Amino acid sequence: MAGEPQADCLFCKIVAGEVPATVIRETETTVAFRDINPQAPTHVLVIPKAHYPDAATLAAAAPQLMADVVRETGEVAAQENIVPGDGGPRTGYRVVFNTGSGAGQTVFHTHAHVLGGRGLEWPPG
Ligand code: C5P
Repeated sequence: MAGEPQADCLFCKIVAGEVPATVIRETETTVAFRDINPQAPTHVLVIPKAHYPDAATLAAAAPQLMADVVRETGEVAAQENIVPGDGGPRTGYRVVFNTGSGAGQTVFHTHAHVLGGRGLEWPPG
C-alpha cells in the first residue's frame, strides 16, 4: 500500500533505526540526516518517514507530506546557517529531488538534497 515501509528500502531502514545515520532533525512525518557522501559542506537529505519512491509520486499521492518535506528543507538551511544573506559562500542553498535513474536517483525513497556552504554552479551537471 502507498506509504507503507518497504523491506528492501535503505531509507525505510534509516527511519526504523535499523541502518545508522547522522540525524540532525526529526518531525512527526520527516527525518533529516547528513548525506554519507557529501557534495558540499552542508549536504543533508530530508525524507518523509512514509515510503514513496520519488518526488512526483509523493506530491501526487500525499501533497501535505510533500509540503512537510519542503518545509523541512528550509528548517535545515536555517539550522545550518545557509539561508540567503549577504551573498557569501555560506549563504544560499539548493534543494534537489533527483527523480528517476536518468536524473541520478539511486535510492527510490523520496529525498530532498539540501546543499550549501559553498558556491553552487548553474546549470548543474
Ligand atoms: O539522489 P540520489 O538517489 O542519488 O541520492 C541518494 C543519496 O543517498 C546519495 O547522495 C548517497 O550518498 C546517500 N546515501 C546516504 N546514506 C546511505 C546511502 C546513501 O546518505 N546509507
